Amino acid sequence: MSTTVPSTVVPRYTGTLVDGEWGEPRTRRTFDDLEPATGRRLAAVAAAGPEDVDLAVAAATRAFRTSGWARANPTERGQVLFRLAQLVRERAEELALLEAADVGKLLADARAEVELSASLLEYYAGAANKVLGETYQAGPGKLAYTLIEPLGVVAAIVPWNYPLPLAVLKVAPALAMGNTVVLKPAEEAPLSALLLGQLALEAGLAPGVLNVVPGLGEEAGQALIDHRDVAMIAFTGSTEVGRKVMHAAAERIAKVELELGGKSPHVVFPDADLGELTRHVALGLFKNAGQDCCAGSRVLVHGDIFAEVAERLKEAAEAQKLGDPLRDEGVTMGPLISQRQRERVHSYTTGALADGGSLLTGGRALVEGFPEGSTFYAPTLFSGARPDMRIFQEEVFGPVGVIVPFQDEEEAVQLANQVPYGLAAAVWTNDLSTAHRVAANIQAGMVWVNEYYAHVMEMPFGGFKQSGTGKDYSLHALSSYCQIKEVTVRLSPPA
Ligand code: NAD
Repeated sequence: MSTTVPSTVVPRYTGTLVDGEWGEPRTRRTFDDLEPATGRRLAAVAAAGPEDVDLAVAAATRAFRTSGWARANPTERGQVLFRLAQLVRERAEELALLEAADVGKLLADARAEVELSASLLEYYAGAANKVLGETYQAGPGKLAYTLIEPLGVVAAIVPWNYPLPLAVLKVAPALAMGNTVVLKPAEEAPLSALLLGQLALEAGLAPGVLNVVPGLGEEAGQALIDHRDVAMIAFTGSTEVGRKVMHAAAERIAKVELELGGKSPHVVFPDADLGELTRHVALGLFKNAGQDCCAGSRVLVHGDIFAEVAERLKEAAEAQKLGDPLRDEGVTMGPLISQRQRERVHSYTTGALADGGSLLTGGRALVEGFPEGSTFYAPTLFSGARPDMRIFQEEVFGPVGVIVPFQDEEEAVQLANQVPYGLAAAVWTNDLSTAHRVAANIQAGMVWVNEYYAHVMEMPFGGFKQSGTGKDYSLHALSSYCQIKEVTVRLSPPA
C-alpha cells in the first residue's frame, strides 16, 4: 500500500494480517486514512472485504483447532502476552506518535494510552492462569466439576477514539482465555491496531491466533459480524451499530459483548469544590475533543450555584488552546476525527439553537488560522437545555456540553436518569450521605464522586441501558470470553 507521511510518523503496516502474513486485500482497494489536524493523507490502508474476512476467520478457526493455543497451559499464554506488553513498551513512542497523528490527540494523552495498553496486556497475562474451575462432591459416588473453555473465534470490532487501548481491551482477555481473534479496527484510525498485530507476531503468537482486517464498517465489519464461524462478537462503538451487531448475532445465537455510547451527567451540589469541579468538567468535556464515550456532557447544577458554575465553565471552555497536537506549542485540545464528525457535531449546535437553547460559548467550526482540510471545532456550552431537546438526550461525541439547573436531589436524579444511556456519572458534594445516596440512585455503570474519569483498570467498566452489556477491564471481562462446562462423574464403586 502507498503511504504519504508527515516527518515524525511512519505507518509501516497498512495491509491485512491473516494467518501470520501481511498482504494486499482481495478487494485490491484501499481507503485513505487522514490526519485530522492537517487534512493530509497519513496512509492508504487495505479495505478488506468479505473474502478477506472469510480468510481471516478461516485462519483463526484453524489456529483455534490446531495451533495448540486453545489448549495451552494458561501460564504459557500469559508469557506470550507479557512479551507483547514488553514490545508495546519498547515501541511506545512510535505507537504514541501514530495514535496522536491518526486521531489528532495530544501526544501526552497518546503516551498515557500506550502505557495503559501495556499495563492491560500485563494484567490479563497475569490473570490467564488464575481462572480456576469448581468441584462439587454431589453425594456418594458422584463428583462434579467445571471446565472453563474458550469459545473459538472472537470478532473484535473497535472505534477510533482510543484505538490501541480499546483493541487491547478485547484482544488481551480473549487471548488469555484461549480464543483466537479477528480484529477489525475503525477506518478512521487503524494504524496502532495494525502495529499491534505485527508486535503480536514478534512476541511469538502463532499464525492465525490474532488476525487484523482493516476495512469499512458496512463491508468488513458487517461481513465479520455475519460470519457463521464467529463464536463471539466483542464490540465497542455506537449504540446504532451495536444494535446491528446484536441482530446479526441473534441469527446464530452468538455471544455478544457491547460497549456503546453515553450521555453522562455531572450532578453538582452547592457544597462542591468549584475549582476542582471546573477542572474535571473541562476534562470530561474537552479531553480527546469530547470524543469520549464517558464525556460528561450534561452538567446538572443546583440552582443556588448555577450562575457561578456556568461562568467558570465558560471561562474554562474559552481557555482551551486548539491546534495541531504534534506541531503546535501548548495545545490543550486537538481536532475532531473527520469532516463528517464535525458536520454531525455542528448539526447538534444548530438543532439546539433551533430548539431554543441558549449558547454560552463556541458553536462553530474553526477554519480561519487552521490548515485547510483540518477539522477543529470550538469548545461549546449551552445553558438551560430541556430534557426533551436532542442536545440533552443524544450523544454528540464532540466538545459540546449543556448546563442544566435543578432545585433538589430528587429532581437531580430524575434529570440524570432521563436519557436512554447509562454509562458514567459524577456526583459533586462533600456530604457523604448525599454522595452514596445519589450514586446508588443513578442508573449508570460507573459513578465517580468528586472526580471525573476516576476509573481504575482493576474495576469493571461498562454501561447500563443503551450504553451496553457486559464489562471491559478487571477480571469480570474474562467471563465474556469463555463458556463453562459441567462434568459430573459417577464413580464405580462409589468413593
Ligand atoms: P461506530 O459504531 O460507527 O463504529 C465502531 C466500529 O464498528 C468501527 O470499527 C466501524 O468500522 C464498525 N462498524 C460500523 N458499521 C458496522 C457494521 N454495519 N457492522 C459491523 N461493524 C461496523 O462508532 P465510532 O464512530 O467508531 O465510535 C464512536 C462511538 O463509540 C460512540 O458512540 C462512543 O460512545 C462509542 N464508544 C464506546 C466506548 C465504551 O467503552 N462504552 C468506548 C469508546 C467509544
